[in-house]
Amino acid sequence: MNLHPRTAAVRAALRPGEPSRPVSPPIHLSTTFHRETDGSYAGDYVYSRADNPNRRDLERTLAELEGGGTAFAFASGMAAIHAVFQSLDAGSHVLLPDDVYFNVHRLLDTVFARWGLTYTRANMADADAVRAGLRKETALVWIESPSNPRLKVTDVAAVTALAHDHGALVAADNTWLTPVIYRPFVEGVDVVVHSTTKYFGGHSDVLGGATIAHPAAPEWLTKRLGEVQRFGGSVPSPFDCWLARRGTTTLHLRAVAQSQTALSLAKFLNEHPKIERVNYPGLEGHPGHALARRNWRNGYGGMLSLEVRGGVEAARKVANGLRLFTQATSLGGVESLVEHRRSVEGPDSPTPNNLLRLSIGLEDGEDLIRDFERVLESV
Ligand SMILES: *Cc1c(COP(=O)(O)O)cnc(C)c1O
Repeated sequence: MNLHPRTAAVRAALRPGEPSRPVSPPIHLSTTFHRETDGSYAGDYVYSRADNPNRRDLERTLAELEGGGTAFAFASGMAAIHAVFQSLDAGSHVLLPDDVYFNVHRLLDTVFARWGLTYTRANMADADAVRAGLRKETALVWIESPSNPRLKVTDVAAVTALAHDHGALVAADNTWLTPVIYRPFVEGVDVVVHSTTKYFGGHSDVLGGATIAHPAAPEWLTKRLGEVQRFGGSVPSPFDCWLARRGTTTLHLRAVAQSQTALSLAKFLNEHPKIERVNYPGLEGHPGHALARRNWRNGYGGMLSLEVRGGVEAARKVANGLRLFTQATSLGGVESLVEHRRSVEGPDSPTPNNLLRLSIGLEDGEDLIRDFERVLESV
């Protein structure tokens, strides 16, 4: 049966087979599994770092929802990202978005600089810039769409075609949109990465990450990603896998609701005289709107950012005055968050000082708008 993703997400969680026949899967804490007298493993598991039932459950669900081949779960999003770079040959060159998630270039500047991995950055919204950034030794192009925190939208199909012509692989970080809104494999990307800490977990209570390879990705890539997971050992605990997998059953409903609320708040803020700019691809005036409308489904995501008139002082006043937005980093949880992004990214950040990033939760949209209305009157 060809199931709607909502149905698939719920049904994927129901895999009976335990002797007690539970409806919700148990958490398998055992680190090791019985060996038979003939040396075989009847249960198909040997040792929990190599594989365990909760991790396999999560990995199968993630692969199914992304429409991918093999998924590997990691202890965090950064561990998953690390695994992709570690699967490249030493000395490779990587092309990154100019506004890549700041921890990615930190990882490359520190850990991978010692491996001779080099990178350059390009504006991924500009095909000429991407073409100019590709080199003979470019092994990978990294895509984050929409970008953080200004929500630039990349033409993934166009960038992927350029990279493939050049013999480079393409990785897409799909954390912000999730497969509910966007499926990078449809546009030919080779590997998708996620921080499952965000929308998959959905409740700000579990760290995790995953890599998912395209069903037709080169065999060596899948093999190496699996080696980094099993032998590198940055694996999530069974409980973490259980929580992330449970989150997938409500992901669709959450992502749709969060997108709807984000759009109505973005429209309100976009009209407000005290706001200089709203970055949200769901707004018709956003430079990535046409691309997003063509390639995304079910909404435009639950993340947006705004630039407050009056500089950093005014921006801080807004963040401090909001009652229904908790000041914290991260995203994708049931509670709305606000963050002064530049102070998190550090002094070399290109992010404007009056920018606030919002992660929209599951509160009522009208309540969130009223909260902004009240606080903007006072700045
Ligand atoms: C949070 C985040 C990461 C890092 O994930 P962790 O789970 O915090 O390690 C990577 N990419 C994006 C887009 C993120 O938002």
